[in-house]
Amino acid sequence: MTSKAPEYAAVATAPEARPFEAAIRVANLSHRYENRMALDGVSFEVRPAELFGLLGPNGSGKTTLFRILSTLMLPSGGRAVIKGLDAATEPSGLRRQIGVVFQAPSIDVKLSAQENLRHQGHLYGLSGTALTNRIAEMLERVGLADRARERAETFSGGMQRRLELAKGLLHHPCVLLLDEPTTGLDPGARRDLWQYLQMLRDQEQVSVLVTTHLMEEADKCDRLAILNHGKLVALGTPAELKREIGGDVISLETADPASLAERITTRFAVNATVLEGTVRIERENGHRFVTDIVEAFPGEIQAISTSKPTLEDVFIHRTGHRFWSEASPPREAGS
Ligand code: ADP
Repeated sequence: MTSKAPEYAAVATAPEARPFEAAIRVANLSHRYENRMALDGVSFEVRPAELFGLLGPNGSGKTTLFRILSTLMLPSGGRAVIKGLDAATEPSGLRRQIGVVFQAPSIDVKLSAQENLRHQGHLYGLSGTALTNRIAEMLERVGLADRARERAETFSGGMQRRLELAKGLLHHPCVLLLDEPTTGLDPGARRDLWQYLQMLRDQEQVSVLVTTHLMEEADKCDRLAILNHGKLVALGTPAELKREIGGDVISLETADPASLAERITTRFAVNATVLEGTVRIERENGHRFVTDIVEAFPGEIQAISTSKPTLEDVFIHRTGHRFWSEASPPREAGS
């Protein structure tokens, strides 16, 4: 069996070593839909000016957590606090602190970019020259200044997403929440969006929480919380989490994986597991160990590979199964 870390076990820094007031604090948060536990005692903190990722396969509870943070839903238990304001008891104050970009498009495509932002500004009580200036500034910042008067329906998917971002940021929030913001975008538009999020963090000190089911996006975050079936299974920087694997990941193809895994475990005192028909071993100096295995079991191994740990390996290490099972394949090709 793959060794499982205890729930909430984190590679995070000890609390006493953190000289900051959390931008977001999620404490023992739970949510139940009738008889289904969608979130089960999740706790983590997002620091000021941090790009924080919430990574998990479909159904892991990301959207539920996102909806609680954005005050659309009350949790069944625990607390979600943003800038000291509790999502359950101080929702209106909290809403002023956050910008939200939902998965579903929220812009009116029949309106121009400028008009979309003007409406948003009015909702937040902005008006007059201050609003006009802020709209111009935001459109400039998201690269839409030259399209300000054009209807959003004439924009590409990437441009529409950037307009959503401008909407979410119009009222100067210090925390930005984005739910799978790159869904449906081409690779170039995805890259642009991530560069923009990094710029927001670095130049405006905005704390960004982004949900994703894409490993390559999660890799770009400063820190990550990984969810599985509503539970927090890992918390830390991508590098810290991968380091926990300790060395390399070796995969072996063979006719009888269960038997070979058992014999490797006995002979070399390592934890060889079988994952979807492949023998899997986490081991330092993998390439050297591969030679030992091939020599010990001549003619039995059909294919062998050694690789540096990825976030998928972290997920397997923590849960004992792959990120995408056959029952929940990735929603987008190449992800
Ligand atoms: P994710 O965003 O990671 O895909 P969700 O938060 O949407 O996960 O879902 C977590 C779990 O809660 C899943 O098992 C899902 O089927 C269930 N769920 C989500 N929304 C509802 C709902 N409105 N009613 C009942 N179950 C729900």
